[in-house]
Amino acid sequence: METMQALVLAEVGKVAVVEKGIPEPGPNDAVVKTTRAMVCTSDIHTVAGGIAVPNGRTLGHESVGVVHAIGSAVTGIAVGDRVAVSAITPCFECHPCQTGHTSHCEGMLGGYKATGARDGNMAEYFLVNNARGNLALIPDGVSDDQAVYVTDMLTTGLMGAENCELRLGETVAIFGQGPVGLSATIGARLLGAGRIIVVESVPARQNLARQFGADDVVDYTQGDSVQQILELTGGEGVDASIEALGATQTFDSAFRVLKPRGRLSNIGYHSSPEPLPIDIAAFGLGHGDQKIRGGLCPGGSERIGRILRLIEGGRIDPTPMTTHTFAFRDVETAFDLMGTKEDGIIKPLITF
Ligand SMILES: [Zn+2]
Ligand SMILES: [Zn+2]
Repeated sequence: METMQALVLAEVGKVAVVEKGIPEPGPNDAVVKTTRAMVCTSDIHTVAGGIAVPNGRTLGHESVGVVHAIGSAVTGIAVGDRVAVSAITPCFECHPCQTGHTSHCEGMLGGYKATGARDGNMAEYFLVNNARGNLALIPDGVSDDQAVYVTDMLTTGLMGAENCELRLGETVAIFGQGPVGLSATIGARLLGAGRIIVVESVPARQNLARQFGADDVVDYTQGDSVQQILELTGGEGVDASIEALGATQTFDSAFRVLKPRGRLSNIGYHSSPEPLPIDIAAFGLGHGDQKIRGGLCPGGSERIGRILRLIEGGRIDPTPMTTHTFAFRDVETAFDLMGTKEDGIIKPLITF
């Protein structure tokens, strides 16, 4: 059996690079030879025990590459094609998929198969289930360094903005400007927000937010963020807010800045078992007409193809978020740095 190197969960709290067999595709699958990958904060949550997976499971879900092998039933894709795939890889056949809820393929959050249900993509080769529905060709005008952002950061952040149901010119507040929050800022601008207020305290992230379209930056270390947003909006609040951090207090603030009829779009990963608060006055004593929507990106090659087109057309360039680059042999260093968030890290790119 041919072998490859893969980054795995050794045990809770510990990762390791190990030798594994190169995966073999089933009839509907493809195997991709990795060219670029990125470490995600959700990999850090997984290793910390926040997402239960067995020891030895390959981590990662943000990789692009070249098709290495395809299953006997796969059409429309050839060995050698440059491809990107979402972190979420639905089957497009089960009941939830057929009702349009592809991120919950076969059950709650079940579209998260890479690492969640089988070996993930932080390896020299990785498997893609239902390849025809999940692999998108990377256009010639899009580099691998750009394309790797469509796998999670852009598809997730853009969904955060899409779930705000923005009308042209509306005001949106985005809490947290990590790579997903920054991608939500990109999305809010593309979708026609009239004013984008971001909440972030780290200067490098504040600067990137402005570069990606933020009009106002609120620093929560300089006073209550809700109060600052209400002051910026003449006491009115915002039409929509995006929670891109996964913190209880941030969720509370994201709800309290909403106008009546406002929409809260949650993309943060909430690991605390405590219930999320809803301020009853802000909820209009239960009659405020607000909406709350949490989402996991829906996956699929059609969506990934559209995001790649935004990059190809010059509407998006996510690469300023790449603060560090490591060769795969140094992936454990990248992983540690993503855990400590030291050295101004936003996103580490891994090259193969
Ligand atoms: Zn990710
Ligand atoms: Zn499905």
